Amino acid sequence: MLNVKARAVNSPDSDFYATEIKRRDLDTNDVLIEIKYAGICHSDIHTAHGEWGPVNYPLVPGHEIAGIVKEVGSEVSKYQIDDRVGVGCMVDSCGECVHCQNGEEQYCLKGNVGTYAGTDRYGEPTQGGYSTHIVVHEDFVLRIPDNIGLDAAAPLLCAGITTYSPLNHWNANEDKKVAVIGMGGLGHMAVQIAHAMGAEVTVLSRTLNKEEDGLKLGASHYYATSDESTFETLASSFDLIINTVSANLKLDDYLKLLALDGTIVNVGAPAEPISLHVANLIGHRRSFAGSAIGGIRETQEMLDFCSKHNIEPQIELISADQIDDAYKRVLASDVKYRFVIDTSTM
Ligand SMILES: [Zn+2]
Ligand SMILES: [Zn+2]
Repeated sequence: MLNVKARAVNSPDSDFYATEIKRRDLDTNDVLIEIKYAGICHSDIHTAHGEWGPVNYPLVPGHEIAGIVKEVGSEVSKYQIDDRVGVGCMVDSCGECVHCQNGEEQYCLKGNVGTYAGTDRYGEPTQGGYSTHIVVHEDFVLRIPDNIGLDAAAPLLCAGITTYSPLNHWNANEDKKVAVIGMGGLGHMAVQIAHAMGAEVTVLSRTLNKEEDGLKLGASHYYATSDESTFETLASSFDLIINTVSANLKLDDYLKLLALDGTIVNVGAPAEPISLHVANLIGHRRSFAGSAIGGIRETQEMLDFCSKHNIEPQIELISADQIDDAYKRVLASDVKYRFVIDTSTM
C-alpha cells in the first residue's frame, strides 16, 4: 500500500481538507500514475454534496486526471515509466458483456467502476484525482499526445469525451448544422470539436456575455436564449443540438429548433424529471437522446483528434487550497472554462 496526499470531503456540506489515502499495491496489469493535474467537473460537486445519492465519505473526487507513469505491474504492455497519461471517469468494467467487448465500457451491463465513489474489483472504494497518485489497470489509462500540455489535457478526459462522443455518434460534419446549449466547461469543448469536425456551429447561451469567446473557438453564430425572438429566428434549423446544461430547460422550445430528423442529445442531467410534448417529436421525426462519456478506445481517438486539430480547453489553474472557492465559482458559472488543480500544491 502507498500512502498518498489527497483532498477529501467527509459530509455533504464539508469543506475540503488535506488528508492521506491508500493506493493499492500494483497488480500485474496496474499502472502507478503520479498525478500532475486534476480538473474540476460539475459531477464532482454533485457527488461531493451527496446530490446524486448516498456517498461513502470520506470522498476524494476527480475524474479528469493527467500525469506521468511512475511504475508498472509485471505484465503491463501498453505503458512505460515516464509516459504521459490520463485517466477519465471510469477505472474498470466487466470486460465481458457485449458493450465492453465493443469498446463501450461506459455502458457496461454490469456497470462500469467510477474513478471515485465506486467499488473496485478488490472490493475497496475508489478515490479520485484530487490526489498525488493513483493506481489504475492499464486498460483504463489513456495516452496524452505530446503537443497537449498535461494541465490542458486533464479536462479532455471528461469534458472532452462527453462532447466528442455524441458529436461523433451523430456524425457532426460539413453537411450538418450543430447547436450547443450552454457555454461552460462542456460547451466550450463542444464548440471546438464540432467546428473541427466541419459542422456549422451555433451557441445557444442565456446571455451574450461569452459571445466573443464562442466565435473565437469556432462558432459561426451566437444567440441569447433569454431573447424570445431567438426561438422564432432559429425554428427548424439544426440537425443536432448538444445540450450541456443540467438546469431544467423549457424543452419544447428547443425541440422546435430541430430540423427534420434532427436530434437533441443531453449530456447534462437535470435532477428532476422533465416533460415534453411528443407532438414536437412526431411532426418533424425528431429524436430526444442522451449520451454518457465515451469508451476507452473512443477517448483515445478524441485525444488524438484534439492533438491533430490543436484543440484545448481554456483552463484556470488553482492550488489545492482553492478547491472550495472553485466549487462556489462553478456553481455561480464564474469560470472560463475549467478549473484545474495543480496537485503539486497538495
Ligand atoms: Zn465529469
Ligand atoms: Zn461489461
